[in-house]
Amino acid sequence: MWTLQEEIAYRDALIEKVISVANDGNGTLSRRQLGEFRYGDTVIRLIDSYGGIWNPGASWGITDPLRATLSINTTDSGKYSDEEKDGGLWKYDYQSGGSGGKNTKMRAAMEYQIPLLWFKKTESGGYIPYKVYVIRDFPEQKFCYIAPDLALASAAKSNSSLEKRYAQRIMKQRLHQPEFRSRVLIAYETKCAICSLAHGRLLDAAHITPDSEESSSTSVTNGLSLCKIHHASYDMNILGIDPDFIVHVRKDILEENDGPMLQHGIKEMDLVQIRLPVDKADQPDKDRLATRFEKFSTQ
Ligand SMILES: [Zn+2]
Repeated sequence: MWTLQEEIAYRDALIEKVISVANDGNGTLSRRQLGEFRYGDTVIRLIDSYGGIWNPGASWGITDPLRATLSINTTDSGKYSDEEKDGGLWKYDYQSGGSGGKNTKMRAAMEYQIPLLWFKKTESGGYIPYKVYVIRDFPEQKFCYIAPDLALASAAKSNSSLEKRYAQRIMKQRLHQPEFRSRVLIAYETKCAICSLAHGRLLDAAHITPDSEESSSTSVTNGLSLCKIHHASYDMNILGIDPDFIVHVRKDILEENDGPMLQHGIKEMDLVQIRLPVDKADQPDKDRLATRFEKFSTQ
């Protein structure tokens, strides 16, 4: 049997791989990928076929018995009442009417401070993977709290209100950002809205109204799927997007001569129309674009 350190190392590497495979695309994995996940020379089942808590036995691709639950999932079936709580912690409800058996290994995850996978099902049917820890367990009431990081979860209980607010804000971001990214990338068919680059790993979900502003939103209409270079160019006002979805490159940049990246990657994007989501309801908010474009134009 693995030592605790070996098991934690195995889990850390597996979880990293799962998140990395999801981010090669739009940030989600299909139910099928979760049922037969290729990891090195093995194929591992990462999710329970029926319930929310997955405690795999030896026949599921993992040779050593695990001390604690490998994954939990939140479906949108309405069967579970998992919800976000103040303080950035998530409440995870154990299976209704489930035996204590499965939950025992959730308790072990908390006691050993072992990371596990949380799969959150999206509207599109894919699952977003998160690395989480079980923070507090309420077996009688059949629920527990989970968080993306042990240090942050502990800081969220700090006596210092500054430290507490900071931890809560970061935890909230850590849990919301992957959802925003996947919704935006799905709307844009995993392509850059400006240059059509189709490598998920090189794409970000950019905010039109910056995240730091009060009026920001995690709606897809406040997002743009942009490759790394166009995201940075948009954030630095090297280029702007007007409310009619047309790209404008800054004048001094247009007058500059440099290599192919500047020429083809940026200058030739001047006055092109961005790709828009097929679903009109997902298209960028014109008012947000206008406010942001004003900043570009008056810089
Ligand atoms: Zn691009």
